[in-house]
This record gives sequence, C-alpha cells and structure tokens, in this order.
Amino acid sequence: MERRGSRDNNRGTWRLKKIKKILIANRGEIAVRIHRSAKEMDIETVALFSDPDRTSPHILYCDQAFPLHGISSVETYLDIDKILEIAKKAHVDAIHPGYGFLSEKEQFARAVNDAGFIFIGPNPETIALLGSKTSARQLLSKYQVPIVPGSVSPLKSLQEGVKVAEEIGYPVMIKASGGGGGKGMRRVDTEGELEGSIERARNESKKSFGDDRVYIEKYIVNPKHVEIQILADSHGNIIHLGERECSVQRRHQKVVEECPSSAVSDHLRQKMGQAAVAIAKAAKYINAGTMEFLLDADKNFYFLEVNTRVQVEHPITELVYGIDIIKEQIRIAQGEKLSFTQEDVKLNGHAIECRISAEETDNDFLPSTGKITHFFPSEGPGIRNDSGARVGTEITMYYDPMIAKLIVHARDRKEAIAKMSRALSEYQINGVKTTIPFCQFVMRHDEFVRGSYDINFVEKHFRSSNVPLRHDTVVAITAAYLKHSESNNTPASSNGTFVSKSKWKMSASDE
Ligand code: ADP
Repeated sequence: MERRGSRDNNRGTWRLKKIKKILIANRGEIAVRIHRSAKEMDIETVALFSDPDRTSPHILYCDQAFPLHGISSVETYLDIDKILEIAKKAHVDAIHPGYGFLSEKEQFARAVNDAGFIFIGPNPETIALLGSKTSARQLLSKYQVPIVPGSVSPLKSLQEGVKVAEEIGYPVMIKASGGGGGKGMRRVDTEGELEGSIERARNESKKSFGDDRVYIEKYIVNPKHVEIQILADSHGNIIHLGERECSVQRRHQKVVEECPSSAVSDHLRQKMGQAAVAIAKAAKYINAGTMEFLLDADKNFYFLEVNTRVQVEHPITELVYGIDIIKEQIRIAQGEKLSFTQEDVKLNGHAIECRISAEETDNDFLPSTGKITHFFPSEGPGIRNDSGARVGTEITMYYDPMIAKLIVHARDRKEAIAKMSRALSEYQINGVKTTIPFCQFVMRHDEFVRGSYDINFVEKHFRSSNVPLRHDTVVAITAAYLKHSESNNTPASSNGTFVSKSKWKMSASDE
C-alpha cells in the first residue's frame, strides 16, 4: 500500500498529499476542536465513540461517526486495531490523535503509517526518542540546552542513586523515565528517604506506565512552569510561538494557564525560543510540539520534557499569536511548508485558560459524576469556550473529568483577569459540581494577580474552606429565580428584558 505522508527518506522530506478526510481518534472537547479546523479547511471528519459517549457533541458535528463498542479507554480509544479498522472502513487519508490516549504512543504512529494513513503528529522515531524523559535528556546533554541537573539514564542501583543525589545536592526529584500526568514523581529531602522513595516511584511507574525505570534530577525550588510552543515543517523550517505559563498546578497537573508569562521578558522569550528550536532540530522534529521548562527565581531555565502532540492549553497561544495550531498541524502533515517565518510571529495581548472539570472544589477535588442538566457557557467579547459537553452529556468515571476550557483574550493581563472573572461568574453548569469556584479563587488571589506565583501556588494557598463563591449555589438561585418568574407569568418589558414582580434578588456572596 502507498505510504501517504510518510517520509521519503531519512532526511525527513515528505510528499505533498492533500488530506480530504480525517479520522479523529479522540473524544470530548479536543475531538470537537479538531473537527472545527478540519471543516474550515474543507476536510471531512470522522468521529469515534465509546458506549458512554454515544450522545457527545463530537459525534453530532463530524460527517461520520463509528462506534467503538465498549466502555473503558482500553477497549475503546486505546484500541489500535479497532481504530485502524474504522479508518479503513471510512476511507480516511489521515488520523489526528488529539492529546492523551494514543497521541504519544510510538506504536500507534507507526501502525497508522504502516496502514497507509498520514499520522498528524511527529514521526514514530521522534515520539520514541522524546517519549522517554531519560532518552530526551541523553540526547540534549550533547547540545547547548540547559537540562535539569541529574542522571541522563535510568538508575541501575540504589548506590548510583545515592551518588547522583550527593553530586547534585538535596532536595532531589525521583521521576519515571516514561512518566506523564504528574505520576511517578517524588521529592526527596534526605539520603535516608531515598531508598523508599525510589521503590515507591518504581511501583507507581510500573502501575501507570508498565515501566519501572526511574531517574533522579535536582528538585528546583519554587520555579515557574514555562513551556514553548513550536511548529516544524518537513522542509526544515522551525519556528516558536512564544511561551505559556502553567504554574497553577494540582498534583503536578495544570489547571490554569496564561500566555505570555509575566516572568518572561522579550529577551528571555527569545532565548527560550531558541532553546526550543534547538531541541526540535536535535530530535528532527516535525509537526507541532511543546518544549517544557522550569524557570527559577533567577531566570535560569531548565529543560523538563517535550510533549509530542497538541497540548490542552494550545488555545491561549492561538489567541495571542493569531495562528490556528490544528490547521498548521494538518498543513504540515500534508507536506506543506510553514507559510510564515519567525519574524512574522507577533504577540498580541494576553490570554488565560481555565480548565473546567467535573470535580468537587470544596471536597478535595473528588470526581463528580452525573448527567449535565443545564449548560450555559459564558459569552461576550474575547471569550472562547472549547467544550465537548452539552445538556444530557453523562460525566462518567471512565475518562478525564475535564468538561470544557474557558479561554479569554484581552489587551493586557489585567483586562484578561477581569474578563476571566466575569466569564466564570456567568458560566452555568448543573448536574455535576465543577472546578469553577477554584478558578475564581485563582483569579482573585493577590499572588496570581501580581504574576509572582510558582508551581507551589495551589498547595501553598488553596484550602477547600477558602472557596470564594459557591457557584452551584448561584446556579441554583438562577434556576429557582427563572422558575419563580415563569410561575408568576413575569411579563417581558418593552425592551425585551424580564421584569421581576417578585422580591427575588440575585446575590452571589462570598462564603
Ligand atoms: P509529567 O510528564 O508527569 O507531566 P513533568 O516532567 O512535565 O512531568 O513535570 C510536571 C510538573 O512537576 C512540573 O510542571 C513541575 O511542577 C513539577 N516538576 C517536575 N520536575 C521537577 C523538578 N525537577 N523540580 C521541581 N518540580 C518539578
């Protein structure tokens, strides 16, 4: 079978092949997001769905939808054979993996290419090289890229661990070579804790990734998480789209992101951008990718890892730089050259993203499952809502709890924070509890407002009892208000707004 969109030779040049139909091997908001860009490029889209997802919006929007027959991720969105079978049945040209699931699995990219489809993402070799944190560290230790000090290969013994930790000095971090999602990571402050922590990190890593290899790196104290978005075509052109700051994290997972970072000057952006481009070059990177760094208080930055896929937080970069990253991914995958240079890339304003998840903010972020009974995302100037849910959507335990991403774009950071606060106060979801109150807490906190926060912000400041606004209470009041108005037969005024005859007052007091 013809290998469309695969490399013609080891130098990485690709044949031009116009993509006409894409299979979206994902679900939720990112499936909808990919569909939207494809549709605007006059490309047909094919959706996949598990049993619990049979009424999800991504199915309604796509031109075709195929059932995966199953419930768990393993029997559905992670089943390579089922996905490829559908790709063949639907006669697609290309497969977009989104993020999560199979997006960073070398064997999936390879199987997609081998079956004759274009994989919208990097080559399998690049995914394999960068998918392991230690092989990426090994590669980059040969280049002029600052990596977090520590070992560049998996630990072979406790003695080696003791030696490395002594060399770099405590505190250190034990990390899983094949890690992701903040799992398999442990801070160690003294030599006495090392053995037990290595054991625990190994077990967690084995359970989560089927790989018990771990390594040691220096624990960077109170850094910011700053990452650089890059785009690289198959003709050797690589550009960066500045940074995103993702220091608001829970259990090492991002919850609120912004672009640009208030800690990054034009000069630092240039330096970090150059480092990201150097990493892409070293790894012969093609397509969109993100180089993640830790930035310490003295503005030293250290390479963490590369995410070889589109990121959850990509929209903030899109809004600030005016570039549709998904469309660029598709153009690159069909062999086109980037249509702009680094000089063309201009930063405009400020964007913030809040991840809205079905979790109980006031109860240690316990998952909140159920059916969405009321869904009214906020609107207005500068607001973007990327969601994969609607009224009737079941939020289950089977998949990621993120329901939507609320994204704002404004002239500057101050206005963006005000806009996000306003948008969060309007956002209405009933049926499940959400992290909206948590996001409101972040927007109001002095340290966030000043921009001086670091990766320990949530741990340092957030307590469930701090929740500033019971968003569910506001929604309940709104629903009760509307019901009351209806039963009162409240008349519409001449200008179309409702006039309440009752004594109901809308109030949203801090608790
Ligand atoms: P994962 O792939 O599991 O997401 P990363 O290496 O990207 O892991 O790190 C996730 C987060 O964990 C970082 O953003 C940071 O908050 C924290 N972290 C990782 N490595 C270190 C380190 N060496 N020092 C301090 N914090 C770290």
